[in-house]
Amino acid sequence: MMERHCHQRRKHAIRQRFFTSLAVVLLGFASMGATSSRAQDWTAQREGMVAEIRADVVATRSYIGKGSLQPEVFTVLGRVPRHLFVPAEVQPDAYENRPLPIGFGQTISQPYIVALMTDLLTPGPEDMILEVGTGSGYQAAVLAELVGQVHTIEIIPELARQAEKRFARLGVANIQVRQGDGYFGWPDAGPFDGIIVTAAADHVPPPLVRQLKEGGRMVIPVGHRFSVQQLLLITKDNDGTLQTRQILPVRFVPLTGEH
Ligand code: SAM
Repeated sequence: MMERHCHQRRKHAIRQRFFTSLAVVLLGFASMGATSSRAQDWTAQREGMVAEIRADVVATRSYIGKGSLQPEVFTVLGRVPRHLFVPAEVQPDAYENRPLPIGFGQTISQPYIVALMTDLLTPGPEDMILEVGTGSGYQAAVLAELVGQVHTIEIIPELARQAEKRFARLGVANIQVRQGDGYFGWPDAGPFDGIIVTAAADHVPPPLVRQLKEGGRMVIPVGHRFSVQQLLLITKDNDGTLQTRQILPVRFVPLTGEH
């Protein structure tokens, strides 16, 4: 009798443990569900952002000379988690098609501009790209999905540090960050297949021209500080001569530094 009672108690305990573990497993699934539905929410917002970029491309086709961009550019913008590149207080606006403040008086560029500049570089899977103006690291992260290696320079030490940590956290291994004045480029890593400058200069920095490979492309806003600038696409021919095409008027924060 005693033995049967013990046996029943053991069975009861086993059943209880089973239900407790089941509850833990179900809770686990439930919380995973909550996480993935949060991710789903961002996905929907990202898709909305990509749709707005597509519409902007069509609206600006007379400037950029085409009604669409390379499909991979849209694919990558639909994948990179922009909300992880902005401060918490502006995170709800992360997927709006406009620039947002990232601290230190700087901005993360408008998604349409990120898409357009990426497209103008015609990135290839083996390319090595130099970015001047890391900021949040978003543009570099977009490029890193499309090319072999990105070198990015940021003049504000805290932004450079934050971006480096962000890349490590996100497991992006093909971006190198340097703190410094990007006017002078990154001579020991060049020459580069493409150079993208995400701050406005009043002239094209000669060191960047020197560090551009023959056949390479540079995308840079040039014009007065705190005014409208022209986004330029500069191509270096195989004989070293430069071709410059004005793309469209833009407004960027200035390229600072002692140069
Ligand atoms: N590409 C950035 C992103 O995805 O968030 C946005 C760049 S923000 C519009 C311009 C950045 O250029 C700022 O972070 C600014 O500090 C940086 N900058 C300005 N002058 C610079 C210079 N001489 N060298 C390197 N970075 C510079």
